[in-house]
Amino acid sequence: MADYIVRATAANNQIRAFAINSKEMVEHARIIHNTSPVATAALGRLLTGGAMMGSMMKGDNELLTLQMKGDGPINGITVTADSKANVKGYPGNPNVIIPANYAGKLDVGAAIGYGELIVIKDMGLKEPYVSKTPLGTSEVAEDLTYYFAKSEQTPSAVALGVLMDKSNTVKQAGGFIIQLMPFATEEVIRILEENITQITSVTDLLEQGMSPEQILDYVLGTLGKIEVLDTLPAKFHCNCSKERVTKAIISIGKKEIDEMIEEGKEIEVNCHFCNTQYTFSIQELTEILNHVK
Ligand code: ZN
Repeated sequence: MADYIVRATAANNQIRAFAINSKEMVEHARIIHNTSPVATAALGRLLTGGAMMGSMMKGDNELLTLQMKGDGPINGITVTADSKANVKGYPGNPNVIIPANYAGKLDVGAAIGYGELIVIKDMGLKEPYVSKTPLGTSEVAEDLTYYFAKSEQTPSAVALGVLMDKSNTVKQAGGFIIQLMPFATEEVIRILEENITQITSVTDLLEQGMSPEQILDYVLGTLGKIEVLDTLPAKFHCNCSKERVTKAIISIGKKEIDEMIEEGKEIEVNCHFCNTQYTFSIQELTEILNHVK
């Protein structure tokens, strides 16, 4: 099943809800970054949350960036998403290997460590909106929950999960975000809180074969059936190209390009987000230099 996000409302619009299955994008990220299991889980959770948060944006040109900057060995994670649920990201160190946590699970919190979550929303205006909140558990979902409460004043329940199989490929990945609108009644809040505490983990629900729609129905339970607004395909997508990299090289200036040519070696430029290597021959560099004033 290809990845997709469902956007829905429930309880007469008192709740807005998002759910995603993200197995393919997380597996894609694992392959291109060759991530260790804990790095796959950490990056996968942030990609999963990022895709849903991207889909909350309205404008076609809006861009969301999530950075978890912590003192753990993964050396930070960066994810960006657009409003069409195209998402990309990378860990600072894809090879992190650390012991499992007390529950025998991949220790994402320790891999990320203490630090802050930086949320940047570029809405195509002069100044992007930047929010910084401290990381709590660094397990990703809780940190996004805290962000929503603190920076957007929106009480939310965020669940994100990545399950690996024995061969360390991605078996399940997905999540949900449930948000209370300001006019939500005490009764709705109480029932929702009860329901959420019943859920063991989102990967359990995925393992039972639930679709994103079914996950939302399950989570909202007695609050009534969800009203699906739409579904949209989600995927790992990087918009880098040789042309864009060329522009980046031009921006470093004539002197540096001159020096590269003098060294007489072709240069390789690596896209952090998707790991694509772009090679520039001396001839190409010389052509680029001709475009630089
Ligand atoms: Zn790229």
